[in-house]
Amino acid sequence: MDLRFTPEETAFREEVRAFIRNNLPKETRERLRMGHPPTKAETVQWQRALNARGWAAISWPKEWGGPGWSPVQRMIFLEENLAAPAPELLGFNITMIGPVLIQFGTEEQKKRFLPRAANLDDWWCQGFSEPGAGSDLASLKTAARREGDHYIVNGQKIWTSTAHNADWCFLLVRTNPAAAKRQEGISFLLVDMKTPGITVRPIISIDGSHHLNEVFFDDVKVPVEMRVHEENRGWDVAKFLLGNERVGIARLGKSRERIDFAKSLARETRSGGRPLSEDPAFRQRVAQLEVDLKGLEMMQLRVVSAYDKRRDGKPDPLSSAIKVRGSELLQATSELVMDVGGPQSMTAWAREADTASNEPALGPEWAAQAAGAYLMLRAASIYGGSNEIQKNILSKAVLRL
Ligand SMILES: Cc1cc2nc3c(=O)[nH]c(=O)nc-3n(C[C@H](O)[C@H](O)[C@H](O)COP(=O)(O)OP(=O)(O)OC[C@H]3O[C@@H](n4cnc5c(N)ncnc54)[C@H](O)[C@@H]3O)c2cc1C
Repeated sequence: MDLRFTPEETAFREEVRAFIRNNLPKETRERLRMGHPPTKAETVQWQRALNARGWAAISWPKEWGGPGWSPVQRMIFLEENLAAPAPELLGFNITMIGPVLIQFGTEEQKKRFLPRAANLDDWWCQGFSEPGAGSDLASLKTAARREGDHYIVNGQKIWTSTAHNADWCFLLVRTNPAAAKRQEGISFLLVDMKTPGITVRPIISIDGSHHLNEVFFDDVKVPVEMRVHEENRGWDVAKFLLGNERVGIARLGKSRERIDFAKSLARETRSGGRPLSEDPAFRQRVAQLEVDLKGLEMMQLRVVSAYDKRRDGKPDPLSSAIKVRGSELLQATSELVMDVGGPQSMTAWAREADTASNEPALGPEWAAQAAGAYLMLRAASIYGGSNEIQKNILSKAVLRL
């Protein structure tokens, strides 16, 4: 198998780089380089710029605004976008609800929601997890009772990322509590977040940021035409969506960008009377991370280039291995940047997190962000299906244990 890029793919990479160079606002790039997460406005602005170029709905068919790229082109685009660094396309819109509607939605649902999802006119969130239903998602309890041409939804979701920004939520609900198999009593609904009866309550995470929420549903009326696929067949939709979600989490371009950033900082940071970049222990650590990343890039390329040849439409079980190793690398590279800052990373972060303090910042801007990112990325081995669950998948599907 040839793992080199073709001349066309290399030219495509240059085209993507040039577009990003010419269109990504400099302030956005610099904020992201310093380690700040993108704001909602930055994400919307960049996704719209990409959409205007026809590059937002990257995995969708041309008929629904996709660019018609091969899986390898998609991978190149995503890597370059992360390496820039530029805000990421909103996964809830592009990798989750878009492909779901294309596969399972009615014509009306596609026409109404797909162009708006591509252009980020609607911000979607994912209402799957509940207290007591995470890895074991099929045990979810949020109930939808049919009354005429509506469902009445009652229950609670948790860990709902960016629900406070969202216009719409794709929601898993129990429509048949008496089904013989738990998976056979679940439906998939599209819910307008402005509907009366929805309460979004923030969860502040360990890094001090507001990304996560609890969402409560009290007698929320959802029109029946907002159900995707048949009643009680929502599990098919959820499985399809989760397979797509997993593939996007490895974010190898992000790890590459963080290693390069740490190297540039180390050239300016002194340790033991010389630049940190000349310290043998630091150099060895960076080399090991680069080798691990290269190995994973090769595996990803192998999985991605085989994608078109798979006939069953299911995700390659090796995408679980990429999720596990990719999330571990994200954690390791965020730790690398934080360690370059040394003790000042934590002190700078603690000072910034103390909103009551009027004291000036302690240490450089990037150091405070480095600690926050390190803390937040502990979650990368949990979301999108925990790494233990991915290892269970690998043990069955690849190792046949
Ligand atoms: C930052 C963040 C963002 C998230 N965003 C969203 C979102 O937008 N929408 C949404 O619906 N959900 C979201 N989630 C929820 C996420 O999908 C769940 O946290 C995840 O599926 C794990 O479920 P849980 O938290 O209930 O843990 P549990 O399932 O209770 O797991 C607890 C521990 O037990 C282990 N474990 C569980 N079952 C097994 C098993 N069979 N074999 C081996 N080990 C096992 C797990 O690996 C874990 O270590 C988010 C989570 C985080 C941390």
